[in-house]
Amino acid sequence: MNIALIAHDKKKDDMIRFTTAYTHIFKEHSLFATGTTGLRIMEATGLEVHRFQSGPLGGDQEIGAFIANNKMDMVFFFRDPLTAQPHEPDVTALIRLCDVYEVPLATNMGTGEVLVRGLERGDVSWRNIVRGITEN
Ligand code: PGA
Repeated sequence: MNIALIAHDKKKDDMIRFTTAYTHIFKEHSLFATGTTGLRIMEATGLEVHRFQSGPLGGDQEIGAFIANNKMDMVFFFRDPLTAQPHEPDVTALIRLCDVYEVPLATNMGTGEVLVRGLERGDVSWRNIVRGITEN
C-alpha cells in the first residue's frame, strides 16, 4: 500500500511517536510524506520515506495529485486545528480529494490508531481492487 504521512508543526511530535510505535507495520508499505514530516520520520525511525515538497511549498498538492490518480491508499494527516496555516486551501483540497476518492484518512492520532491497525489486518485490501480498475 502507498501511505501518506503529513503533520503540521505542532503535531510533528505526535507523528514521530506514532510512526515509532508502528514502525513494524509501516515498514511493510511504501511511505510518502511532505518534506519536513518525512525528514523527521526518517531520522527518528529509520523508515524509508519518499519526500515531497514541504507542505506550505506544495507538498500537500503533490500528495493530492497521487490521490487524484488513485495512487494513495491511506492518508495520515495530523492537522493542527488551533493554528492558522498559510496553505489552508491546500489542506482543504487534500481532505476533499480523500473524500472524492474514498481514501481512508486520519486527521488525528486517535483515528490514526484505528486505521493503522486496520492496515495491519488487511482491512484496506479493497484498495488493490480500486487501483486495478483505474489502472486498466
Ligand atoms: P511539512 O509540511 O511536513 O513540510 O512541515 C506539512 C504541512 O504543513 O502541510
